[in-house]
Amino acid sequence: MTAINLLAPEVADAIAAGEVIERPASVVKELVENALDADARRISIDVRGAGRTSIRVGDDGAGIPADELPLAFVRHATSKVAALSDLDAITSLGFRGEALASIASVADVESSSAGARIHIRAGEVIEQGAGPFLPGVTVEVRDLFANVPARLKFLKSDATENAAIKDVVTAFALLHPHVRFQLTIDGRSAISSAGDGDRRRAFASIHGAPVAAEMLEIVGLPLVTGMVSQPRLSRGTRDGIVLAVNGRPITSRPLAYALEDCYQGRLERGRHPVAAIDIGIDAALVDVNVHPAKREVRFRDEGAVFAACSAPASRSITGRSSRWQASQRRPATKASSWSTVPRCCR
Ligand code: ADP
Ligand code: MG
Repeated sequence: MTAINLLAPEVADAIAAGEVIERPASVVKELVENALDADARRISIDVRGAGRTSIRVGDDGAGIPADELPLAFVRHATSKVAALSDLDAITSLGFRGEALASIASVADVESSSAGARIHIRAGEVIEQGAGPFLPGVTVEVRDLFANVPARLKFLKSDATENAAIKDVVTAFALLHPHVRFQLTIDGRSAISSAGDGDRRRAFASIHGAPVAAEMLEIVGLPLVTGMVSQPRLSRGTRDGIVLAVNGRPITSRPLAYALEDCYQGRLERGRHPVAAIDIGIDAALVDVNVHPAKREVRFRDEGAVFAACSAPASRSITGRSSRWQASQRRPATKASSWSTVPRCCR
């Protein structure tokens, strides 16, 4: 055993970056989150070489004041959290002030906002000065993981990395139909959403018009929004299910199961729905600070959340039962007769 050493900052930074930035799709996710936190209405994402060559994200949001641009790339520098108590009720997608610093420590990054520009490579500022006066922020990330060959080695095929990027943008485009997302991969348009607030149109831009036509709007509790597929539309995998809390995509197997339970046997065995469901919940009742890549959340009362999600979902599904088999027809349910709800969130 050798003596215990304090790691050099660039080594510590590269290790910390690994928690947040696992692959090119993580870069896309963090930059899109920042754009959404800045209330952008248009977010364009341009990817080359499966994200290894370059990822460029531009938005038309609030932007970063010119004199704060260098600070944005410092670890633990954030405009979203100030005091410890702020962590009890996080309303933004970002909060740790880590993403930009992490990305800049494992890539060659150029960013501009509000007339300022900065160029950082492997955590070191190469250049900073005047930049274009354009709305929002642009961040270009080149040569991702060039200085961390071990990470580069673990990346999958171009097709797989591109698919992961597309999944990230898909989830955000479905959850934020009022934002226009444009993803191009190697010069070809991969996603182009209208951003006009029409959720069905957002589905059409992702899954095509025939799928969008089969989607049912979730109606019921005002805080649960989204669409679920009719039982006759299904998939062989759960890849078509997007779940979110306060606009933040999450992975939650139990919640996916609760959603499938809402179909009450109407889905064939081994088939899964297409859905995008966003559960609006008091930020104090959910802890989003439990996963390095912010993929998972912890609920204060998981059962209540499942019920809140399942009630309107199952009402949307069963409410159109007359279109399915007559034997399964049920009377129209009123808001007060959601007593069947607990059954579908066992
Ligand atoms: P976090 O999002 O957790 O605060 P980041 O490292 O992602 O940390 O970003 C640091 C800060 O830079 C943010 O708090 C925000 O003030 C600013 N910022 C980053 N990206 C954008 C953007 N696209 N638009 C406006 N401000 C941004
Ligand atoms: Mg962020």
